[in-house]
Amino acid sequence: MEKDIRICIIGGGPAGLSAGMYLEKKGYENYTILERLDRVGGKCWSPTYNGRRYEMGAIMGVPSYYAVHDVEEFCGITHDGPKLNRNYKNAKGDVIEPFEPKKNISKIPRLLKMKKQTKKLGEILETKYKGYDVNGHRGVAEGRYEGFSQQNAKREPVSGINPNLKDLAMPFKDWCEMNGVELTQDVWIGPFTSFGYGYFDEIPAAYVLKYLDFQTTMNFVKVNLWTWKDGTQSIWEHLNDHLKNPARLNSTIEKVERKDGKVYVTVNGEVEEYDKIIVTAPLYIPNKRDDGQIGMVDYFDTRDDEMELFSKIDYERYDVLAVETKPEDHPEISYYVFENMTPQTLGHLMVYYRRWKDTKDQVITTYALRKHKNSKEIPYEECKQTVLKDLQTMHNPASNVVNEWSVYYFPHVFSDDYAAGWYDKVEAMQGKYDTFYAGEIMSFGDMDETAEYSRELVERFF
Ligand SMILES: Cc1cc2nc3c(=O)[nH]c(=O)nc-3n(C[C@H](O)[C@H](O)[C@H](O)COP(=O)(O)OP(=O)(O)OC[C@H]3O[C@@H](n4cnc5c(N)ncnc54)[C@H](O)[C@@H]3O)c2cc1C
Repeated sequence: MEKDIRICIIGGGPAGLSAGMYLEKKGYENYTILERLDRVGGKCWSPTYNGRRYEMGAIMGVPSYYAVHDVEEFCGITHDGPKLNRNYKNAKGDVIEPFEPKKNISKIPRLLKMKKQTKKLGEILETKYKGYDVNGHRGVAEGRYEGFSQQNAKREPVSGINPNLKDLAMPFKDWCEMNGVELTQDVWIGPFTSFGYGYFDEIPAAYVLKYLDFQTTMNFVKVNLWTWKDGTQSIWEHLNDHLKNPARLNSTIEKVERKDGKVYVTVNGEVEEYDKIIVTAPLYIPNKRDDGQIGMVDYFDTRDDEMELFSKIDYERYDVLAVETKPEDHPEISYYVFENMTPQTLGHLMVYYRRWKDTKDQVITTYALRKHKNSKEIPYEECKQTVLKDLQTMHNPASNVVNEWSVYYFPHVFSDDYAAGWYDKVEAMQGKYDTFYAGEIMSFGDMDETAEYSRELVERFF
């Protein structure tokens, strides 16, 4: 492609800004990033409370966040935030230590079995499921892998045939049972379900394992995690400041038309002409949302194949509250509540986060899911009241809610569509209408997978 082509990027979150960075690194400087909000970062949102930033969205990374590390290097920043630590409570609010054999004598056989199965899982991922951890989902449903290895920072291109990979379309629960590693779900569930990514009986194993590859999960277990003092939003603010073309904030895109090899974008009432467009914003939203977030299909001249595929996308209803507590009610640390991470306890508090160790004058953030594939969505307000009640049960009642949001979260497709080759069909459409699709749906809904996918997209097509 000519280096001076005009590229429009929709969305100033991790995917859109890193697409700008990787394009720029490759010599494409004629790009424009359009962001609908008055800030960059997307789901990395770090507002300020008493002079310090807290997290309403993304919180942490791990040492294998290679694309985020690229961004840090590009901007000369590092992960300089408070150390993460957590304990566990049961649904009654008692502190427990579920993985400590001495505290769970009767559960020792189960814990030993879990340890054995975790080792087995590590082994089968390297052998039977070789290729499971490349970025993106190309070829998986066809029993192939193709992409960039995530084993180390070099991220070399890898490809191969492995028919076993087709199994990854199954819900993670079924996949674990089939492979005799069902107890590993006890370990994987913490950084999966409580982080809003849905339940193991509904989410294809491919998503679970691409995000929580073996190395990443072990980093969670060892609490070998990265945070940022000024919040994850600051990563993307720094990047935006370092880009030759920072995102244009408050951009309302009314219409996108693709004709005669050009892309016409009507933004804030003016028509702009581009050669190519990269969409990192949501492609499809199945319901009307109160925050005004709409899908690409609502403002593009959407083609039949786009509509047919994108209408299969669903997303998680994941709610975050930021609450104040009285000093005497402040939790001493963050807590996981495993008993609340089941489809039967939908709408309950699954985890709550205390960010700073040195003060009680801070907000605590709480996390809950409101939807499971097979059950009715719990209304927002009902979930909020349940979470506030749960905080009382946990002996950490809130005195005031200072911030809240229910964000369009973790877009994904379900097992049937995954197995039917949804990803290969969408990948085959990359560039077809001078349009490229990136962002969370194309890989996984975390900062690194999305930024990494943008890197790969630029490598493959530009
Ligand atoms: C509560 C919570 C906790 C999380 N925890 C973690 C974590 O600990 N670690 C981690 O790695 N990730 C975490 N994530 C996920 C991570 O934040 C996202 O996966 C990541 O931000 C996705 O990047 P993205 O650019 O694809 O999408 P987004 O971050 O959603 O960015 C998309 C951008 O597009 C903009 N946009 C949308 N529509 C339009 C339009 N029509 N026109 C112009 N712009 C538009 C949006 O305003 C937004 O800025 C968390 C997210 C949440 C909400």
